Amino acid sequence: MGGTFDPIHYGHLVTAEAARCKFGLDCVIFVPSGHPPHKKDYPVSPTEHRYLMTVLAVVTNTYFDVSRIEIDREGYSYTIDTVKQFREMLPGAELYFITGADAVLEILSWKNMSEILDYCHLIAASRPGYQLGGLKNRLKSAVGENINRIHSMEVPALAISSTSIRKRVSEGQPIKYLLPEPVEQYILKNNLYQKPDK
Ligand code: NAP
Repeated sequence: MGGTFDPIHYGHLVTAEAARCKFGLDCVIFVPSGHPPHKKDYPVSPTEHRYLMTVLAVVTNTYFDVSRIEIDREGYSYTIDTVKQFREMLPGAELYFITGADAVLEILSWKNMSEILDYCHLIAASRPGYQLGGLKNRLKSAVGENINRIHSMEVPALAISSTSIRKRVSEGQPIKYLLPEPVEQYILKNNLYQKPDK
């Protein structure tokens, strides 16, 4: 499960659990992105904050775990490098890379995009009413038969977004029940997402 997780919220957790059940996965490993190549000019919270919030969020689910694989890797975090590393660590396992549909829509610009599908399936989780139909048509010529390894899944809980949580915190609005309580406490304790003059 790849994402920036800035912060992680119930939409991500419900997505992971739904994917685990729908695709019969043994476990879901959350991989907070280390240095996202597509966010060079966009402020992202420090990796250790995003990693620790992810650990706090998954601690009560025995099927969930968190990996530092991208955080500890130097340079930009490319999904192709991540799935290759997982292939080495888990030889023989059927791998699925789960992420948001918005991110998947940009996949044509990802490094070694078609090779990623040689290593894993891709699950695109979308907010209600999201249209992914055109994506498969666009990707067909680029990925050939691997198109069958792209799956989509609508997750109503993804009406929650990290962007709206960051905005709510900066405006002093409540975020309770949008994300696990320990993550909420972590955000408040560390003054994350405050306006710069605070
Ligand atoms: P993003 O651009 O921050 O997010 C795009 C959308 O997808 C947002 O609406 C986001 O909602 C949602 N989303 C992100 N991760 C999700 C998840 N795990 N489950 C459900 N919804 C999710 O995307 P990102 O988080 O930076 O990137 C997503 C993944 O794609 C990461 O693992 C990243 O490394 C990978 N990626 C790789 C490349 C590359 O290899 N070149 C390029 C881009 C992305 P929230 O904001 O609420 O999370």
